Amino acid sequence: MIQIFQRDDIKTLGTVTYFEVPRLKSLGFVNHAFCTRSLRLKKVMYSPIDLSAGSAGRLLLNREVVASTFGFETNQLITMDQVHGNDIWIIDEPLPPGRPSLNHSADALLTDQRDIAIGILTADCVPILLVDPARPIIGVIHAGWRGTLLGIAPKVLDAMVDHFGSHPEDLLVAIGPSIGECCYEVDEAVMAPFRSSAWNWQGFSRPTGNGKWHLNLARANIEQMRDCGIREDRFCWVSVCTRCNNDILFSYRAEGPGTGEQISFIQMYG
Ligand SMILES: [Zn+2]
Repeated sequence: MIQIFQRDDIKTLGTVTYFEVPRLKSLGFVNHAFCTRSLRLKKVMYSPIDLSAGSAGRLLLNREVVASTFGFETNQLITMDQVHGNDIWIIDEPLPPGRPSLNHSADALLTDQRDIAIGILTADCVPILLVDPARPIIGVIHAGWRGTLLGIAPKVLDAMVDHFGSHPEDLLVAIGPSIGECCYEVDEAVMAPFRSSAWNWQGFSRPTGNGKWHLNLARANIEQMRDCGIREDRFCWVSVCTRCNNDILFSYRAEGPGTGEQISFIQMYG
């Protein structure tokens, strides 16, 4: 059975409120969190940032807050230039000292390196954290409807098998807050490609009449990963809708383009 977490499971550490999955924590070598809107982050990478410049300065500062709260250095936090595609960035050797510009376009990141925290930024899309305790390997996935349609999660699992020799039955998957089926209404333009895809779209969509549908993106990604051999009891899901819980989570649907993004990260230590 999938282990489900709700809004009441929220935690606080310092000034940061976040969700965590005890099963990952109990592994004893993984640091992780699905942060809430107590920390606003945007896709600002390692380009030079003028600290005096309003929002960019604050964003850099918030990276520092994430890092100091969860026990790593700011320059250990690696995020991507997310583009709603299905490219995977694999980091399988130590990064060069000084962390040069890392504006890397991808929507998933896999690593066997212990000195970095890998993160994704989301507002309604599905943040997914992966651990292969047997290798060990960690990964993050950003899955919106486009990434889900492209099958980014199965593609990442294939990469774990092909590149690192993972066995799907060893993997643990943690899914963070995203827009729920309650609030994620889409039209024919989104549904048509799902209907013509190989995915079992009936399993994660519900027609509401008048040409609209409600999609359950988290469920879609779970189904895709189950089809790759991950058992249901290996999934943990913070089933908290970003739009319904817009007081604690950023939601593009609730707030529009001006909304921020919450960060989810994972790191191996020790
Ligand atoms: Zn909702």
